[in-house]
Parts: sequence; structure tokens; C-alpha cells
Amino acid sequence: MAQVRTTPSTGIAEETRLIRAGAKACDLVKTVGPPIQKGSTVLLPNAAALYDDDNHLTYGRAGLAAHQALKSALAEMEGASGVCLYPSGLAAITGALLAVLKAGDEVLVADNVYKPTRRFCDNVLRRYGVAVRYVDPRLSPEELVASASDSTRLIALESPGSLTFEMMDLAAVSALARARGILTLTDNTWGAGYLYKPLEHGVDISIQALTKYVGGHSDVFMGSAAARDAAVLNALESSVHDLGWSVAAEDAYQMLRGLRTLPTRLERQGATALAVAEWLQAQPEVAEVIHPALPSDPDHAIWSRDYKGACGLFGFVLKAGRPEAVDAFLNALQLFGLGFSWGGFESLAIHSDPQLGKRKYARAYAGPLMRLHIGLEAEEDLIADLRQALDAYAAA
Ligand SMILES: *Cc1c(COP(=O)(O)O)cnc(C)c1O
Repeated sequence: MAQVRTTPSTGIAEETRLIRAGAKACDLVKTVGPPIQKGSTVLLPNAAALYDDDNHLTYGRAGLAAHQALKSALAEMEGASGVCLYPSGLAAITGALLAVLKAGDEVLVADNVYKPTRRFCDNVLRRYGVAVRYVDPRLSPEELVASASDSTRLIALESPGSLTFEMMDLAAVSALARARGILTLTDNTWGAGYLYKPLEHGVDISIQALTKYVGGHSDVFMGSAAARDAAVLNALESSVHDLGWSVAAEDAYQMLRGLRTLPTRLERQGATALAVAEWLQAQPEVAEVIHPALPSDPDHAIWSRDYKGACGLFGFVLKAGRPEAVDAFLNALQLFGLGFSWGGFESLAIHSDPQLGKRKYARAYAGPLMRLHIGLEAEEDLIADLRQALDAYAAA
């Protein structure tokens, strides 16, 4: 066995001693959460270990105790053989795209993806010689995969889309894509890895903005990419290494803490959201409610077959009114914050139309498209708040 080096504690100057003071290894007591281990430098036990990457973690960027705990908990939830962490949800998407695409490849991207995902495809992937083609999220799996070309390497989807909520039958898409040697990726932030598990349905890469439901408190950024297949996971891990992503130990700890209450929060927020959605359907100012858990929704069958429940995010369409009326509605809300993002414990509202400008296959709605995120407040208070805001809409 190689000798483990020790540091002298006597016979050296005070400034030298202070550099090492307090560094004696202490036994960690067992707490409920993992230790928040901070470190760039990892001290190795002996010279042989310095270049022995197979047996030792040699640098903190790869993640220490809290990161390992979070990765293994996420892998358990996603049914993955491994998970990579990224400093934001967007970084998880861009990191995964860079991991599997190369110059000359084509990627098919659902037209309903998160707007910054589209920006990355247009501004960065194209610059590096990857062809990007947007596809209608309303295509059937057969139509979608049939539209792939010989250079199509990846189909990137978001189901349901986080503004317009179209869902894809991902099991069917991934089976057809696999038969043609095409990889599939989905942004599963809505399904949160708990309500829906893409890898179990054959999708190759499951992405989440952990910032949303896993974090759950609107105060930490992080993203994850999960995979089952060894070659895909290896490509994701190498690209994290190549691109230099890393996340802070405190943030990994916070994410793991959020994960503990994820099912409970989703259950409550999903139930309140569905009750609010049903209530909205009966309001005279509302033209349509877009929520996959409603039987009236065009994607209800996919949702009921594949999902354990629904989260707190859904859309609705107001009957056409004067342009100022949308602002009057939003400004009248007292309990709903006006803000992007979602997945926290608080309710939020936005109007979505300004984000749809770049879409190729945008549907025409009967009036303004709105989005609500339902938090942990009481259902009756949220409904009362919406009712008085609808009054303001009607009066404007
Ligand atoms: C918020 C969001 C992201 C990006 O997550 P960040 O952590 O904010 O970068 C990606 N996809 C969807 C659907 C989102 O809502």
C-alpha cells in the first residue's frame, strides 16, 4: 500500500503553521443532509494518486459530497444511470445539445420550446454548422420522425411546452426515432422528473430546469440532464468536463433539500391548479383553459396515460378585449406576483403573447394568452383574486 503523507505540526514558523491550522481531518457526524463540502483543490494521499484519475476525484469542479448526493437522488427519481448538473436549466439544455451534436448534423426542434433554447439554436448551433429545423409540435409522432433527413441526429422537444402546453407522445416519437438512429431529448421541467419520467418512455436525454420545481423556492439556479444509455451519458459527462460547468456546493445542497418535498408540493400545487383551471372554465371572460389534466384538452389522453399528476403551471385565453385590458387584469391581481419563472411556492401570472413572435407554427387564439403558476396559497383566496382581476378586465 502506498504511504499516506503527514504534515509536521512542530518545528515550523507560525505563518506556516497557520496555513495548516485546523485542517486535521475530523470525523464527520451523520446529519440528515450531506455535508456542504467546499473545495477546488482536492488533497491526494500520495504521489501515485496525483495522476490516477480512475481511483480518485482529483479536482473539486467535478463535484463533492453534496453534488454526489444530489446526482444520485436525481438519478433515482429519473430512473437514470447517471445525471449531470449545470449552473442553470438553460445551461443543461445547451450543454446537452453541444454534447451530442456536431457540424453537419441537423437537429429538429419543437417550435414550442423555451424561448432561450431557440435563441441558442439560432445564435450558436447554426454558427457552428449545425442545421436547425423547427417542427410543429402538433405533428403526429409518425409525421415528425418522417420529416427527419439523413443528417438528423437529434429531435429536441418540450412536452408540454411551457407557454402553449402542446404535448407529444414521447414514447412513440422515441421508438420511431431510435429505429432511424436518431436521439431524442426532452425538456421535462413541467413533469419535474416526478410526474413524468422521460427515460422510462424511451427518451434518450431528460432535461430539467431544477430552478423550478425541484428547487421550489425561486432562489437557486440549476439544471440537470439525465440519461440511461452509457454512450449518451458518457457524451454528456465529457461535455460538462470539456465546457467546464460546475455548480456550488451550497446550491447542490439546497436542490437536494427541495427534492425532499417535491412530491408533496406537486400534489398540493397540482390539485389547486386543476381546481382553479376548472373554475376559470366557467368564467364568462374566459374563452379557453389550456391544461392537459382537463378532459377538454387535446392532449388529455397522453397526459392521463403517461403522467402521475399535473404541476401548477397552465394557460388560459381571455375573450378578446381592448389591448389595455390585459394590463388592467394583471395589475389588479393582488396575490399573484407578476413574474417569469415558476415552480416556487408562490403564485405568478404573465401574459404570453409577447413571447410567441418567433414561432413558425403559432396557433391563433380567440384572445390574449395568459399563463398562471399556482403556488401553495389557499385555493379560495386565489380564485377570489382572479375573480376581481377578471372584473377589472371586463371593465377596462
Ligand atoms: C425556466 C426554464 C428553463 C431554464 O431554466 P433556468 O434555470 O432559468 O436557466 C428551461 N426550460 C423551461 C421549460 C423553463 O421553464
